[in-house]
Amino acid sequence: MRSIMARKTTVISAVVIFMLLTINNFVYIHNSLYNFCVNAIKIKSLYSVKNYSTYETENFIIKYTPEDGDVVAIVANTIEKDFFQVKQRLNHRLHNKVQIIIYPDLEIMRNKLNLSQKDYPMGIYYGGILHILSPKVWINDSSMDTLSREFAANGPMVHELIHLIVDEKANGNFPLWFTEGIALYYEYRLTGYEWGKGLANIQIPNTLSQLTHRFELLDQDLAYRKSFEIIKLIADRYGEQKILHLLDQLGKGQIGMNSQVSLEKR
Ligand SMILES: [Zn+2]
Repeated sequence: MRSIMARKTTVISAVVIFMLLTINNFVYIHNSLYNFCVNAIKIKSLYSVKNYSTYETENFIIKYTPEDGDVVAIVANTIEKDFFQVKQRLNHRLHNKVQIIIYPDLEIMRNKLNLSQKDYPMGIYYGGILHILSPKVWINDSSMDTLSREFAANGPMVHELIHLIVDEKANGNFPLWFTEGIALYYEYRLTGYEWGKGLANIQIPNTLSQLTHRFELLDQDLAYRKSFEIIKLIADRYGEQKILHLLDQLGKGQIGMNSQVSLEKR
């Protein structure tokens, strides 16, 4: 009996070790493949702005055109300040300096990122890069003081920086609703801006499965609001640490979510 038990234990141990090795290999392959795809997109994006000038800060490398030569330092300052609070709240250290591209107008931004005429983005996180529209396009005031204040108060940076950190922590192993919910949640906590506040009392019917598999086909206002509400519910009930823990587990492949949309623009 003893020998059979010992043999069983050996077989079970071998299976467990094999499973762990397989899971680790799978996580390694997934993460490597994901990073390869992100890098390919990054190289393409940077090539498309190879003639832009460069402004470097402690954590960022900013590409910009002569039209934004007078605001690039203001933008850089705001981003560094935003990043300081975001990285502390999400307890994250960047892997490398992050590239930012400032597009001088909406048409150029749409063109370079293959966006439709229906899109009016202020900022987009895509392929490891923060793509932003020049604040001069949406802030109608010639004074630099106002531009600086407006960009800090109403700009897209906190939201996009959170997308970046979620991506670095979880290696793209999540659906779109999850990263949008986290970005909206921390934006709300850090800046006080609550997205879709007017929808607060509406019972939004979207299920988790719909959010995961058909996010872009849903009514976007409702889908974003629902994503925010789910993440807020988790944070309210279990604490913000739970969200950070989930991100760590996703990054290590200890839990999985559908990641088919992880290379989307967001
Ligand atoms: Zn977003």
